[in-house]
Amino acid sequence: MKKNHFSLRVTLFVSFLFLSPGLVPTAMAQKLQDEQAADKITIYTNGNLITMDDDNSRAEAMAIKNGIILSVGKAKDIKEQFKNQPTDIIDLYKKTVLPGFIDGHSHFSQAAASIGFVDISPSPISTGNDKGSIIDALKKSDQFSKLQQGDFLIAYGYDQTSTTMTCEGSVGAPPGQCMKGLSHDDLDEVFGDIPVILIHVSMHGGLLNKAAMAKLSVPLVPEAGEKLYVNSERKYQPSNELTGLLMEQAWEYALGQAQALQNLQSVEKSFKDKLTAAQLMYASYGYTTVHDAPVTKQVMQAYQEAAEQKALFLDVVAYAVPTDLARYQYTTSYTNHFKIAGIKIIVDGSPQGLTALFSQPYKVPGPNLAKSWCGGVANTSQDDLNQYVADAYKAKAQVLTHVNGDAAVQMVLDAHLAAGAPKDMRTTPIHSQFVTADQLKSYAEYGFTPSFFTNHTYFWGDLHVKNLGRERANFLSPMASGAKLGLHMTNHSDFFVTPPDPIFILWTSVNRISRNRKVIGKNERLSVMQGLKALTSDGAYQYHEESSKGKLKEGMVADMVMLSQDPTAIPVKKICDIEILATYKANILVADTSKFKPRVLNCKAVMPKKIDKLCKHVKACART
Ligand SMILES: [Zn+2]
Repeated sequence: MKKNHFSLRVTLFVSFLFLSPGLVPTAMAQKLQDEQAADKITIYTNGNLITMDDDNSRAEAMAIKNGIILSVGKAKDIKEQFKNQPTDIIDLYKKTVLPGFIDGHSHFSQAAASIGFVDISPSPISTGNDKGSIIDALKKSDQFSKLQQGDFLIAYGYDQTSTTMTCEGSVGAPPGQCMKGLSHDDLDEVFGDIPVILIHVSMHGGLLNKAAMAKLSVPLVPEAGEKLYVNSERKYQPSNELTGLLMEQAWEYALGQAQALQNLQSVEKSFKDKLTAAQLMYASYGYTTVHDAPVTKQVMQAYQEAAEQKALFLDVVAYAVPTDLARYQYTTSYTNHFKIAGIKIIVDGSPQGLTALFSQPYKVPGPNLAKSWCGGVANTSQDDLNQYVADAYKAKAQVLTHVNGDAAVQMVLDAHLAAGAPKDMRTTPIHSQFVTADQLKSYAEYGFTPSFFTNHTYFWGDLHVKNLGRERANFLSPMASGAKLGLHMTNHSDFFVTPPDPIFILWTSVNRISRNRKVIGKNERLSVMQGLKALTSDGAYQYHEESSKGKLKEGMVADMVMLSQDPTAIPVKKICDIEILATYKANILVADTSKFKPRVLNCKAVMPKKIDKLCKHVKACART
């Protein structure tokens, strides 16, 4: 077994689905071309435009031609300015308009590929809260009903740390050492010889049943001392068998085997349909620029074909796996809504999976009850990392790194130093969840543009307190400290780790309230404007696009999102109730507003009991 399979890690499933050629222009892209050819000036008036410019200024009107903003300001002035030219005047009825949201990090091709997979995330996203509900969701799924002989049943969002997951029917752990979650036996009981893969919510692992393990040549009992399984769960004595949950290197191995199989499912929609559906989904959340990293060469090729055939109507920023560095030219501008901006290197795992690398141990034992557990082994050695970073800088490729624990962050800082610490590379440590205060200062010094992940405060904040202690948990994604240092930083969903919902991201960044209604690090809460900056203008900065995107300003692309409420004018606790009304890419409506459903993570879903109760105890609710 080779160790460094990480290029396969998260994008592997997509490879199978991308291989169908022949993408055609979508109706949306055609419409875009037609309307831009019209050469008319659109004037939006009577609006509440949050421009996101450096003065945080507001405007009521904006003129746009060929998808570019000509002027922003008072309605009277703008109408006067263009009175002798053909114009369409559109009344915004005081609605709030922001620059289109910019996705700091997610797995866009995975989003497309996973359309059709079963969503077994815990509530409030889906219903995967315990063994019964997960098995129920699998059995009732469309995918299950269409399975053919030999097909894999694939689901995503599996989270054994979900607070309602019980220990019952698990793997016979000693008393007091009960392991949450399912084992292969739980799936075998119901699905027999149908191979089942539940992709772990961290995307760094998965639970396989015995049929899937056999098909992917994963041994039930690994050889003694087999390092590959160091981060995976095993049954307790006497069998020493794996439970089916494979993390990190063991998962990579399984993915490598899956790739060798070529096809996991015989019934599969073409990627063309899925790509359109994924763009519409992101647009329905207000995104006009989306992100994908890391991207394998097969997927990159499919993107390039899609772009050539004008099948993209949102901007897609893609990052290659580091071993593909020499394959591409790196650029800051788009061709047909697509650009390859750099590479992404995966350094460690996830804190909720106990595979984020720390300099100080977790407060709980690791896999197999390992004491003084610091997260296992890095996915890339320091030497390899140094080489990747140095080579990327030489090729003018932006470097993204997946880092969660402070020890992984340190590896990236060391690699940057070893490469001569060049300025303004906008190196982007993705997640940076447990960066230390000193390391944050180094980010500022080196011109790094970190992308944080405040959604963790909600989904796993309580768990981080337990696993890492209050002090480290409170400094999770320390965006307020970053703002004080003047960092340009984004905040992301990491979909499909959490839903691609910028309104929810904004809510978590200004409230930092956990599922158990604890505030996780009150000093790190952002103001609403800071939270919005991380989703708009700083997103543009991260992609070297600050001169063309991220603000409603003369000369910028007219990417816009219209909201049901002004997030700065309502109590911050209520931000989760804002809905997206429309999304425009270069002034073209790109989301089918007639099909919009209320956002899943609305306030009622996120905080099922009255959040007002919480407000009596914390000051989170009063701030705007
Ligand atoms: Zn990710």
